[in-house]
Amino acid sequence: MSISFSEDTEHTQLTSAISLPEDRAEGSLRPKTLGEYIGQKKAKDNLKIFIDAARMRNEPLDHVLLHGPPGLGKTTLAAVIANEMNVNMRITSGPAIEKPGDLVALLTNLSEGDILFVDEIHRLNRAYEEILYPAMEDFAIDIILGKGPSANSIHLDLPHFTLIGATTRSGQLTAPLRDRFGVTLRLELYSPEELQEIVERSASILHVEIDPKGSYEIASRSRGTPRIANRLLRRVRDFAQVRADGAITREVADAALLSLEVDQYGLDAIDRRMLRSIIDYYGGGPVGLDTLAATINEDAVTLEDVYEPYLLQNGFMTRTPRGRCVTRKAYEHLGLVFSGNEQLEF
Ligand code: ADP
Repeated sequence: MSISFSEDTEHTQLTSAISLPEDRAEGSLRPKTLGEYIGQKKAKDNLKIFIDAARMRNEPLDHVLLHGPPGLGKTTLAAVIANEMNVNMRITSGPAIEKPGDLVALLTNLSEGDILFVDEIHRLNRAYEEILYPAMEDFAIDIILGKGPSANSIHLDLPHFTLIGATTRSGQLTAPLRDRFGVTLRLELYSPEELQEIVERSASILHVEIDPKGSYEIASRSRGTPRIANRLLRRVRDFAQVRADGAITREVADAALLSLEVDQYGLDAIDRRMLRSIIDYYGGGPVGLDTLAATINEDAVTLEDVYEPYLLQNGFMTRTPRGRCVTRKAYEHLGLVFSGNEQLEF
């Protein structure tokens, strides 16, 4: 079953945590030091100890795995680590490594202490992972040249480097790869107060006048995600320039976000479709993720990685062994009468 909805896709994308072309300006907003990196206290505290210890021993940092939903600051944190360790960082991603030679070239071009950042590391071809094992463990690789009986193996030593892997789905990493990371840090969705700080910092970099209620309004509608907060700030700034005197107040932010169809919780068309379909077609749930994805014509992985975390954290949805259920809060938010569902009656 597939149902099409006539929603405006431009508005749908506005609150997507996945990077959009309009986010190219993100670079200037990225914090450069741990001090500037707002929130994620637990990850930062741990990291600070590892960085200080590595610096004291004058050694490269242990390999780090960062995981969490998109847009929470994994790439930014990797760059912060490189900056704090005063080393260079090379950036690649799992799907960009198309053949073993790509990975070998990246590894052999590193200098002592460098960081190799591999985004979406769970999408790295499993067959090439084996090159990473000795590289991560012994800082060496064995390359086989030629085929059959005349094949030759060359042993190459690598500089001591740090691999930083980022993933939205750590469960998809193979156990041998996961085990080779000395440090694993989980990034969490940000609180509205932390996002408010991020919005205010970005507004000052962009020279936008904003008052505290204006920044809080944007923050509380940004789905716990800095990338969305920065995007909404830029859109509200445009609105403020054209419709108001350029300054962002609560009223200006509210009017701008309403016109962009971002509701007071930051839910967008896909969130609403997801909740609405569980109610309309599955009596509030439980419904399996794949069935739900097919119903609303979306990708199951995107629903699970991008949409679900926020809906779960904010109590719009629950995840049970039998599938997803919506809560009373979701019914009320959609203006529907809650008559109880099977799952919540336990
Ligand atoms: P990810 O790699 O997890 O998808 P990014 O590191 O690209 O996310 O972050 C997206 C944007 O959000 C960055 O450009 C940066 O401006 C902003 N950002 C992320 N984390 C923070 C933070 N802790 N403090 C301030 N800004 C942040």
